[in-house]
Amino acid sequence: MKKYFLLLLFFVGLINVTTAQTDATEKIKKEGLSNSKVMDFAFHLTDASGPRLTNSPGFFRAANWAKDELAKMGLTNAKLEPWGDFGKGWEQNKCYLAVTAPYYFPVVAIPRAWTGSTPGKRSINEEVMIIRAKDSAELYQNYAGKVKGKIIMIYSPDTLKPSFTADGSRFTDDELLKMANSKPDTSRRQANNFTPEQMAAARQRQALQRQMGDFYKNEKPALVLSMSRAGNDGTLFVQGGGSYAKDAENNYAYVMLSSDDYLRIQRLILSGQKVQMEADVKTTFYEDDLKGYDVVAEIPGTDPVLKDEWVIIGGHLDSWQGATGATDNAAGCSVMMEAIRIIKASGLQPRRSIRICLWSGEEQGLLGSRGYVKNHFADPVDMVLKPEHSKVSAYYNLDNGTGKIRGIYLQGNKDAGPIFTKWLEPFHDLGAQTVTIDNTGGTDHQAFDAVGIPGFQFIQDAIEYDTRTHHTNMDTYDHLVPADLAQASTIIASFVYNTAQQDEMIPRKTLPKPRGTGNRGF
Ligand SMILES: [Zn+2]
Repeated sequence: MKKYFLLLLFFVGLINVTTAQTDATEKIKKEGLSNSKVMDFAFHLTDASGPRLTNSPGFFRAANWAKDELAKMGLTNAKLEPWGDFGKGWEQNKCYLAVTAPYYFPVVAIPRAWTGSTPGKRSINEEVMIIRAKDSAELYQNYAGKVKGKIIMIYSPDTLKPSFTADGSRFTDDELLKMANSKPDTSRRQANNFTPEQMAAARQRQALQRQMGDFYKNEKPALVLSMSRAGNDGTLFVQGGGSYAKDAENNYAYVMLSSDDYLRIQRLILSGQKVQMEADVKTTFYEDDLKGYDVVAEIPGTDPVLKDEWVIIGGHLDSWQGATGATDNAAGCSVMMEAIRIIKASGLQPRRSIRICLWSGEEQGLLGSRGYVKNHFADPVDMVLKPEHSKVSAYYNLDNGTGKIRGIYLQGNKDAGPIFTKWLEPFHDLGAQTVTIDNTGGTDHQAFDAVGIPGFQFIQDAIEYDTRTHHTNMDTYDHLVPADLAQASTIIASFVYNTAQQDEMIPRKTLPKPRGTGNRGF
């Protein structure tokens, strides 16, 4: 009799837990889908803060706003936490370029990050020179001593091609099914798709680029023009150009032009016309504080034992300078902040503690998350584990643009599969049900995965990520899709809450071996 009674108690308990979980999911869905504040968060991180290049004034505007906002929501220990040495901050203060002869037209241009200013207080007015050299020997032979104070551009063999496919896309059912049916990849790294010839050509291009950099430093042109790769319709893929290192020299002005403008100027010069340009480029380097910072805030858990364990969520707050980094990655940060707000507003009391981390230095190599992981958990170089290493159930990341969540990458952690499959059940009607064993790379969950803490990134519809917004001057608030971000926030809130509630932590993969020094790759 006693046995049956206990069994009955067990099932009643199970039903209670399941009912509580269903209630929580319903609360989360209601709050996240009908009362979303995700676009308010996005506005503050984009339009209101400006570009968020690591250690720039815009980054700190966003970081301090996020810290204050999280504290206002009732989170504890909201702070900017230093993760290590980064380097200089930088921002553009003025960027005016126009062709003044053979006739006037303004051009679309953006300074490359961490590059300098044109000389003097006023604008320069110079003839534009094309440089055409196949290697550095030819470069020095033909152009040494001839470019000082000039505006120069490198000959580009590119042409623009019309686009025959739409910028925006979502995963098809077939694509998702293929991901769901993926087999575990036993190799440590996924092979890249480049042939040895392509790799050699890329190495040669990089070497020439380095030599060009040295040439500019030595020969001191007033302004270097460059052309955006693959950008058409006024879209510039614009990233770095100078160095943020503490002891780097801040020299020449180096801007990127829209391809349309660049190729037009080039054709005019090649036809024998004299092209004159007016330019005024001013930038500022910030050197007072060279440390890098992450935004961190916490919700303390309520279970007497489990409150010492953590669920961590995050995304990178830093962006490039060409726009306001809306899809890369104000989107992910806004979603994570909104997931936290949903949990708070639904009145849920998580058993484990929850921590939100908004990283910096991601664009320079996952620096903020790697630094944080090294300070708190372990250094992948020696894998000496700190006490906190055993306390993290999982880290969830979002950093693939504005698209809604279609599922999750297991990062090879097959034991987590059945758990996540179940957790996605209430969200099939919102288009999220795929669990794939596949890895995905290029962002901050890798810092956790590298030391054996379960780190996951969600599968997101691409929308216009690779075609239009990622690292471009078009990465603005207007390219965000509000309904998709509300969906993502709701699902992440539910994942975070479930991770905080279940008795067991998320299963871990085998602990990685120390990778030793000299291998930076993850
Ligand atoms: Zn990103």
